[in-house]
Formats: sequence, C-alpha cells, structure tokens
Amino acid sequence: MLEDFDFENRVVSPEFSGMDDDTEITLRPKTLDEYIGQSKAKENLNIYIKAAKMRNESLDHVLLYGPPGLGKTTLSGIIAKEMGVNFRVTSGPAIEKQGDLVAILTNLNEGDVLFIDEIHRLPRNVEEILYPAMEDFSLDIIIGKGPSARSIRLDVPHFTLVGATTRSGQLSAPLRDRFGVLLRLDLYTPEELAEIIKRSARILEIPIDDEGALEIASRSRGTPRIANRLLKRVRDIAQIQFDGAITEEVSRTALARFEIDELGLDDFDRRMLTTIINVYGGGPVGLDTLAAAIGEESITLEDVYEPYLMQIGFLTRTPRGRCATSLAYAHLGIPFSENAASKEKDTRIQCDL
Ligand code: ADP
Repeated sequence: MLEDFDFENRVVSPEFSGMDDDTEITLRPKTLDEYIGQSKAKENLNIYIKAAKMRNESLDHVLLYGPPGLGKTTLSGIIAKEMGVNFRVTSGPAIEKQGDLVAILTNLNEGDVLFIDEIHRLPRNVEEILYPAMEDFSLDIIIGKGPSARSIRLDVPHFTLVGATTRSGQLSAPLRDRFGVLLRLDLYTPEELAEIIKRSARILEIPIDDEGALEIASRSRGTPRIANRLLKRVRDIAQIQFDGAITEEVSRTALARFEIDELGLDDFDRRMLTTIINVYGGGPVGLDTLAAAIGEESITLEDVYEPYLMQIGFLTRTPRGRCATSLAYAHLGIPFSENAASKEKDTRIQCDL
C-alpha cells in the first residue's frame, strides 16, 4: 500500500501540477523550428499549414493524442502562431453546458484556433453541438420549450479545432471522424530531451554542460514537462551544494536525492512493479486489481505511469492483464524464476511480440 506516497507532488509526474510555475509558459517553443523532436508530426503539420496558407483557408481540424506533458498544448499554440491567427484555449471538463460552447464558438474570429484539451471529457450533449460546427461551421440551437420550441441555425466563423487527448480510443467515432488531421505524439528520446533541457537552460540562464543535460534527460521518462521540472530542481542543488553549474556529477547527486533512479523510476514505479512481481507472481494482473492494490485510479495508471514503463520494456499489456518483464526483475534485483520465465514466454506468444 502506498498511503504515505505523495502523488500530488510526484517529481516525475508528467501532468501539470503546482510544481510547475509560470516558467512553463516562458519555456514553451513559439515556432515549429523551435519545437524539438516529433519530426513526423512536425513535418506533416508544416505541409498542411503551408498548403492552407497558400489556399488562404483555415487549417483542417487537428487531433493531437499522446501521454501528458509531451507538448500538445505547445504544438497547438504553434499552429495558431504559424497560421497567424488567435489562439483560444479551453478544456473538455470546463465546458459543462451546450450554452458554454455556443458562447465560445460565436465569439471566435475567422480562422481562429480553438484548443480543447482533454476533449474526450466533453459531455456528450455538448459534443453534439460541435458536429455541425466542425463540419458546416453552423450551430443548430433550440429556443424555447415544449410546443413553442423552434430550431434556429447560426453561422460561426471558419475556425480550426485542435483537440488534445491522452486517449484517442475514448473519443466517440462521430467526433473522431470530423478531424481531418490526426497526429500522435510519442515519448522523446534522451537525446531530444537533452536538446530541450539545453534550450530551457539557455532561457533560464542556467549553466549546464552536455553530460549534465543528458543525465537529466535520461531520467525524464521521455517527457519534456518532467525534463524541465527536473532541470529546475537540479539547479537548486547546483546553487546550494555546488558552484551553480550543472554537470553530470551535479545531476547525479541531485537526482539521487529526489530518489529518481538512472532510468527515471521513482518509488511509485518500483512499488508498482514489485507489487506485480511479489503479490501477483509477475502477472498477468488485471488493471483494476492492480490499481486497487496500489491505491491509484486505473485511468491514471494507464495514461500516466504505464506508457513509460512499457516503452523501456518493463511492463507488457496482455489480454489477461499486466505483466512485469525479465528486464524489470533485473532492474529491481529480483531473481527471475523459471516459473516467471515460462510465463513471460507465454505472454510473448499471446502478444505476438
Ligand atoms: P501537454 O499539453 O501535452 O500536456 P505541454 O504542451 O503543456 O504538454 O508541454 C509541457 C512543457 O514541455 C511545455 O512547457 C514546454 O516547455 C515543454 N515542451 C513540450 N514539448 C516540447 C518540445 N517539442 N520542445 C521543447 N519544449 C517542449
């Protein structure tokens, strides 16, 4: 059980939290050139933006999906800037009533980018307003109640909807089908994160060398938000315990103090993996069972913690549940028994790995 684990202030959480101050905005790249990594998404966007500008049209609606902290909000701001239009931001849970969305849409200007974060959390009746708005740039509104109710059609400016979601599978088919451009953001490589860290260090005027940046990068779980947060935490240690500059030694000392290991795993990841291994014999264990055992919500486990553990090959998702791999056993120093080895083989066959 993890009663004593401080989920809110988890240093390696990819979600925006109280630990991230206004510098997150300062650090946001403003143009596609400044946006590091995600070359496939960037290349595609570049073409679509240029083509839309050439035709003097608004950009097709864009759906960005991928784990939190990978730069979805940043990229949508860049789309607006590159298109030379206004950027309006809202989120699925913030739009409670149809009227809220009608107000937002009717206040847009021609070509504006409307960013809806966590679009999979839009209430269904609000989502229905969005369909004609996205397709025909019109709204069907019912005025009055009962027999005197009548429907009127309102035009809205030609806007670009940029939706962001951590889970594209949860989006309803009619909504998903109305996006012309679907872009998946992937976890970043340590080298890309090192570039992001050096860029942020330049902006925040923090002296850092290549090795120091790479050390932070390789513990940032493929996520720029975590990389920037760790950079700021390491800076504190560099200033108090060292001469202010971040080197490999400074990064290592600081990250050891935060109990983040060389792969970026913290206490929570280690306990999650040891629970699978010690309590459930290495798996498979169902997501909900696992979530209950470690006191977190299933959705959070799936969206926030698992992508990285899967990327580094420590965890597999099988039809029967989650399994810890031999790599996870080795990392935690737990002997990988023959029993576990044969289970892993079964899993590989099941998953066709
Ligand atoms: P998301 O919307 O996916 O949760 P954000 O767009 O808020 O993520 O990004 C989190 C932080 O990470 C931003 O403040 C930004 O500084 C940084 N960031 C994200 N992607 C990049 C990138 N490709 N290059 C540089 N910095 C990035």
